[in-house]
Amino acid sequence: MTTTEVSPPSFFAGRVAVIATMHHKEQAIAPLVEAHLGVQVMVAENFDTDRFGTFTGDIHRPDHARATARLKAAAALDHTGETLAIASEGSFGPHPQIPFVACDRELVLLLDRQHQLEIVGEYLSTDTNYRHQTIRDLEAALAFAQEVGFPSHGLVVKPQAPGAGSWVKGIVTEAQLVETVTTALRQAPQGEVGLETDMRALYNPTRMGVIAQATDALIATLHRSCPQCQYPGFALVREVPGLPCSFCGSPTLLTQSQVYHCHHCQHQQCQPATQRSASADPSYCSYCNP
Ligand SMILES: [Zn+2]
Ligand SMILES: [Zn+2]
Repeated sequence: MTTTEVSPPSFFAGRVAVIATMHHKEQAIAPLVEAHLGVQVMVAENFDTDRFGTFTGDIHRPDHARATARLKAAAALDHTGETLAIASEGSFGPHPQIPFVACDRELVLLLDRQHQLEIVGEYLSTDTNYRHQTIRDLEAALAFAQEVGFPSHGLVVKPQAPGAGSWVKGIVTEAQLVETVTTALRQAPQGEVGLETDMRALYNPTRMGVIAQATDALIATLHRSCPQCQYPGFALVREVPGLPCSFCGSPTLLTQSQVYHCHHCQHQQCQPATQRSASADPSYCSYCNP
């Protein structure tokens, strides 16, 4: 990294950082930001984040992850009267490059009203138990549970037909699972019930780990200062492909350079990708290895 390393504590040290969560995400976020930013974490009380959307799809998400995290952080500041907030948002689905592999993309956003700053950290992980399945008997439900790390990871039972009972979330004991599935199967007109992993952080320690990794990414970004205004959070916003093939020199899809941007003064800078070599292995070349 050619940008300067600063100590963001001068911006954040001693300040209260409100964490906008009702799913105990502070367990992943607080130790890291307290140690690296010198903030004092406070969890917004009586603060309902579910109005910004839930994973199970029963409440529609108002906007994409960053906008949703921004809304949560802003609401936490309005709610508490503080000036610094952290919110996070996750999304789950097929991996963008490997369609058969599920992934968890976590975003952690810091909103600083005192310095007019909004910085995010993101992490994409294939370490997730995100799954859903339609089951027809209790045996299948128990097999599913075993495969997804139950009971340390919670489950959700959802009726497949309208009017066939209601969703049950946060199932964490076998007795609860057996009872819920048995009742749901009895009420299901087609004899089918949906079962899925509960992705809320407090029911999903694997996800909690990915939130911690996104928090690490946020802290790393905050430690890069803008070469023009010295504010923390000189952020990688784009990767430009085109690293030349080492054999024939044609551009490949590998990253050649990275674009950094300052949210405070809008300064932008393009620099060669750091961890890469100067050229790409011919196996990535569409001419040498079509
Ligand atoms: Zn080539
Ligand atoms: Zn700047």
